[in-house]
Amino acid sequence: MGLFNKKKNYIRINPNRDTMPATKPAVPDDMWAKCPNCKRTLYKKEIGAEKVCPHCGYSFRISAWERLALTIDEKSFVDWDNQLEQKNPIDFPDYLTKIDNMKEKTGLDEAVLTGKATINGQEVAIGVMDANFIMGSMGTVVGEKITRLFEKAVVEKLPVVLFTASGGARMQEGIFSLMQMAKISAAVKRHSNAGLLYITVLTDPTTGGVTASFAMEGDIILAEPQTLVGFAGRRVIEQTIRQQLPEDFQKAEFLLQHGFIDQIIPRMMLKDRLSEFVAFHQEKGWCD
Ligand SMILES: [Zn+2]
Repeated sequence: MGLFNKKKNYIRINPNRDTMPATKPAVPDDMWAKCPNCKRTLYKKEIGAEKVCPHCGYSFRISAWERLALTIDEKSFVDWDNQLEQKNPIDFPDYLTKIDNMKEKTGLDEAVLTGKATINGQEVAIGVMDANFIMGSMGTVVGEKITRLFEKAVVEKLPVVLFTASGGARMQEGIFSLMQMAKISAAVKRHSNAGLLYITVLTDPTTGGVTASFAMEGDIILAEPQTLVGFAGRRVIEQTIRQQLPEDFQKAEFLLQHGFIDQIIPRMMLKDRLSEFVAFHQEKGWCD
C-alpha cells in the first residue's frame, strides 16, 4: 500500500531561483511553423519559398506581394489604382485608424492588389487579395479596385487572373460592402461580353460574399490544394440543416468532386498552368 504514501513536497524548488537570470535562451520564433491542415510542426526551411507543407501539400497563406513574386515575371508588375480614398460610410468607430494601421503592417493600400503584369511573357490584368488585410474583407475600395481591373482589362483587351482570399464582405462598411458583389459581377459580365478570358484562383480562405460573387464567376476556376472555400461557416450550416457535414466539406477537393471548381493545381505548377491557359485562349482566337 506504499502507493498511497506519497511523499509530500516532492517537487524540488531550485534553491538558486532568485539569482537565476530572468531571460530565457532566445529561440527565434520564426524558425517553426505548424501546418494547419496536417497539424505537423515544420522547420520553416522545409516549406520553402512557395510555402507548401512537404507532408500534406497544404499551401500556407501568403501575402499578396509573395503571391505576385511566385506568379508573374520579375519586374513586370504595374500597380493600378493604389491611391483610392478610403471612407467610413457607416461611421464605424476607429475604422479609418484600423485601415491606416493595416496599410503600415502589410505594405498594401487595401486588401487587394490590382494591376497589369506578364506571366511567362503573356500579358494579363491581375488581382491578388490578401487575407492579412482585415481578413481580405471586401469593402468599397476593394470593390472599386476589382471593378476597375475588369474595366481596364476590357479597354486593353486583356485576360483577368484573380487570386481570391477573403473572409467575405467587410462588416465595418455594412450594406456598402454587399453592393460590391453586384458591382463587380456587372463588370465581370462586361469583360465576358467582350470575349475575354477570366480565370479565378481560389486560395485559402475564400468565403462569404467573395465566394458568392466574382470568385465563382471565372471561365476557369482553379484552386490550391486543401483550400477552404465556402459561403456560410460550417456550424451555421449544420445547425440550419440539422445534419452533420462530411469532414472535407468546403475543401477544394470536395468542391472539385461536386463540380464547383475545374482543377486543383499545386502552387509550384500554378504559374506555368496559368500561362498555358492564357496562351491557349489567345491561339484559339476566342477574343475576336
Ligand atoms: Zn501539412
